Amino acid sequence: MSLFVKSLASGSSGNSLLVTYKDSSYSLALLVDAGLSTRSIVKYLRDEKIEPSDLSGIVLTHEHYDHAKSAFALSRKFDIPIIANQKTLNRIYNGKEQTLHAVLPTGGQWDDGPLTVETFSVRHDAVDPVGVNVYCKGPRSIVHKISCVTDLGSIDDTVRKATTGADLMVIEANHDVYRLNAGPYPDGLKSRILSDHGHLSNESAVELMVQHLEQKGPCVFWLAHLSKVNNLPKLAVNYARATLRMQSTNPFTVDVALRDKPSVTWSPGKTALQLGLF
Ligand SMILES: [Zn+2]
Ligand SMILES: [Zn+2]
Repeated sequence: MSLFVKSLASGSSGNSLLVTYKDSSYSLALLVDAGLSTRSIVKYLRDEKIEPSDLSGIVLTHEHYDHAKSAFALSRKFDIPIIANQKTLNRIYNGKEQTLHAVLPTGGQWDDGPLTVETFSVRHDAVDPVGVNVYCKGPRSIVHKISCVTDLGSIDDTVRKATTGADLMVIEANHDVYRLNAGPYPDGLKSRILSDHGHLSNESAVELMVQHLEQKGPCVFWLAHLSKVNNLPKLAVNYARATLRMQSTNPFTVDVALRDKPSVTWSPGKTALQLGLF
């Protein structure tokens, strides 16, 4: 069996994560978020030899444009179900004719062969935002777990519990607090980003990562949704690596999911592969 995860883009200009699975009985692919243009998503899928109509679903974390931009268009054009909670679906359709979809209540699960998608509530200024776990049952009952937690303003017990045991954690590291405070954004926007329902700082992301690494042991982290203005990939990754090294003796990999192009990939048992970082 082969499980493969790839970041197609990550940040305020678009987010999408591709998860594929193959064995002798199944060939599955799904997206977590579709915040890029339809054309880019179709291209990136075809680069991976995946036809958009073969996607079994587009799982949406929330309705913001950088996560849901082409969900409706892709669903309508290629008959791909949109998988989301009811409030998010209402925002996506917003009076438009409905397309294929499945209601996944927050905290619920959706099965797709050996893959199970589970959502959990996160704090963010959207109608019903969620983090997403994808579980994959491999041979000998080994379960691989991928956790995707963007966007969120703060980490609570729900997030800590839901991400426990993840082999790959995709976690928002939106900004460096100093850079944000000293930067050009208006005060209102700074307050929104810094609020409990805004976006996660490098510092807050690393706090969860340290705890996770201690509990889980060896694992891979992808820093996601980095701000172009208030963060730098090198700053975020160096801070995370240095802090994890200081606070844990467990081995880990930290990479950055780049903003505007496909970047990091992950498969169980393999070190994350970096493509053209920085
Ligand atoms: Zn976002
Ligand atoms: Zn958002």
